[in-house]
Amino acid sequence: MPDLRGAALAVLTSALFATPALAAPMKAPVPAPAPAVQRQALLLKEVPTQVKMIAFTFDDGPNRRYTPQVLDLLQKYHAHATFFLIGQEVVRFPEMVKKIEASGMEIGNHGMHHKWLHKLTADDIQKEITGGSDAITSAGGKKPYLYRLPGGYASEDASKLLGSLGYTVIGWSVDTRDWRMSATAEGIERIVMRDAAPGRIVIMHDGSIRREATIQALSHVLPALESQGYKIVSISELLRKSSYQALRQLPPQKPCDAKKAKNSQPKKERPRSLIERLRPASQKPSGRKAG
Ligand SMILES: [Zn+2]
Repeated sequence: MPDLRGAALAVLTSALFATPALAAPMKAPVPAPAPAVQRQALLLKEVPTQVKMIAFTFDDGPNRRYTPQVLDLLQKYHAHATFFLIGQEVVRFPEMVKKIEASGMEIGNHGMHHKWLHKLTADDIQKEITGGSDAITSAGGKKPYLYRLPGGYASEDASKLLGSLGYTVIGWSVDTRDWRMSATAEGIERIVMRDAAPGRIVIMHDGSIRREATIQALSHVLPALESQGYKIVSISELLRKSSYQALRQLPPQKPCDAKKAKNSQPKKERPRSLIERLRPASQKPSGRKAG
């Protein structure tokens, strides 16, 4: 799939370099500015890499009961992850923001009220996105640049707004289905171990409902993946250590130990596209919502 990877990288690079922060300094006199091109956000489901890294993501927190348990397990196994927080939950438990970041984890935006963006007007989409970001920064967290769509649903307005705000939208390629009320630890564990492959993005949840099954599954899959030579990383680490070197404006972070990966061969073929333009309902899961 070299064509896909090349095309994806080209799209990503051009979009990123179109951001004002990366534009060359302007010299006078300047011609009349061209009409602004409203670039659309890109959806990243996994990245092409031969290194045995998997990104873990946790949605719908912070939760006073479950988030600390997830953090303890991640730290126990020297793993990193990205937490996509809901703004209204951050307002309830603001202390969790600093606790997550102090644990070496990364925070992304999951909206203010977990509303499905394709159901909202452009004004309400903006409130949802900026409200989530403001809640995180007001609690002392870093300004997020990663966004996860509640339910995986998007619209053209949402895509344009997320793109103009500089967000990269993070999807998933391993849906643990822990959002189901009937989810079991065994079932979650089976999905993760079956679908584990370099560059994959795993979605789990640490908030919203009871998460005992997720916690129990996590306590099993982290050592199991470690024993297979995998490094569990945050989204930024995955991007930094992957083929997407174009993402060089990512903030500095302690490098992961990718060099110690024992096996550089990908586990299986990947039939899906890795990155694509964000489209309405672009990662709508079958049945119920995942994000
Ligand atoms: Zn969610």
